[in-house]
Amino acid sequence: MIGDDFAELQLFITGPILLREEVRKAGLLPEFGHRDTENPKRFEPIMSNLMTIAGNPEGYLPVIFNGSGTNVLEASIRSLVSDSDKVLNVSVGAFGDLFHSIAVLNGKKAVQLKFPYGSAIDLEILDEALKEHKPDLVTFTHNETSTGVINDIVAVCELIHAHGADSIIDGVSIFGGAPALINECKPLMYCTSTQKSLGLPAGFGIGFVCEKALQKAEAVANRGYTTDIIAQVGKAKINQTLTTPNGTLANQMCVQLDYIVNDETVAGRFKRHEEMRSIAHKWAESMDGYELFAQDGYRSPSLTTFKTPSHMNIEKLKEVKELMRGHGYLFDPGYGKINKELAEQGESPIFRVGHMADIMPDMLSEYLGVLAGVLKGFN
Ligand SMILES: *Cc1c(COP(=O)(O)O)cnc(C)c1O
Repeated sequence: MIGDDFAELQLFITGPILLREEVRKAGLLPEFGHRDTENPKRFEPIMSNLMTIAGNPEGYLPVIFNGSGTNVLEASIRSLVSDSDKVLNVSVGAFGDLFHSIAVLNGKKAVQLKFPYGSAIDLEILDEALKEHKPDLVTFTHNETSTGVINDIVAVCELIHAHGADSIIDGVSIFGGAPALINECKPLMYCTSTQKSLGLPAGFGIGFVCEKALQKAEAVANRGYTTDIIAQVGKAKINQTLTTPNGTLANQMCVQLDYIVNDETVAGRFKRHEEMRSIAHKWAESMDGYELFAQDGYRSPSLTTFKTPSHMNIEKLKEVKELMRGHGYLFDPGYGKINKELAEQGESPIFRVGHMADIMPDMLSEYLGVLAGVLKGFN
């Protein structure tokens, strides 16, 4: 039968993620009409629970976009950057670069500020760039999934706003795993998606949009159709989506967000992610030759990156991946482009351990124990 050979692996990658049993079962709930009275039974609690997870940011509205996180990033660029605006895309890794590509490919006037892999945004260097480029808007990544760095987004936004520019934040891999700090940061838009720390399949992007963003969008030409936040907000206000949503995912999201808010609690979920970060850091100390890759003080609670010893290479990490598969796990051998660049510089690769969404501390400890055994075979 189709599916008989689909492997039941525990995913320790950085999205998609392992789904809780209850979320998988929720995939069997009834399909519904998205303009029918059945729709608000799902989307009213979804919207209100999203606000709770976001810390109830004042004046913001959650918008559900079809697609994934990238679609929301694109909507923010299409709707908020006018033809006369200059946008500065600050990057600490592959997903920061993605925001710049989206701006460039949409014909926006865009400049990029790049930090070395593993580093967080340095405020002094950002200050210089803001003085030099005088951007109207600045985009940056909350939690850089390719390097395991989490930025101090409150300080970054404060600096950006002090220069008279607006901010847009990519919070795709951290929303649901740590505070989104939208109230403290006041970005025009905070973008995220379902398949990372929220613990759902991919399929929706989520954007928190404020009144100022809608006013700004009024003056932007050619916002597109699905990328127009004004049209999107029009439907979000009545707990709907602009275009037909994935009903299976909506059912699962309704169940999962209720679990996060009312069973685990948001504070408990954030605390569990911090606990898993500590477990990953302690493991690194126990591993001879392996080091934490991200800058001290800026290490993500949803994933950890490890620098391998000099005898490791990309090919060996592929072997590690296959050996881990034999133990029932999906191992993450690092972000391809970054490891290729490291190899070109004669450096050993990094690998990632995703500990986001509904991975439990004991599951992580067990995984790291198995991984330690596999890695010892490469000494
Ligand atoms: C995964 C990810 C994206 C891309 O999101 P998709 O949902 O795959 O489109 C963007 N930014 C960050 C930080 C991510 O982790």
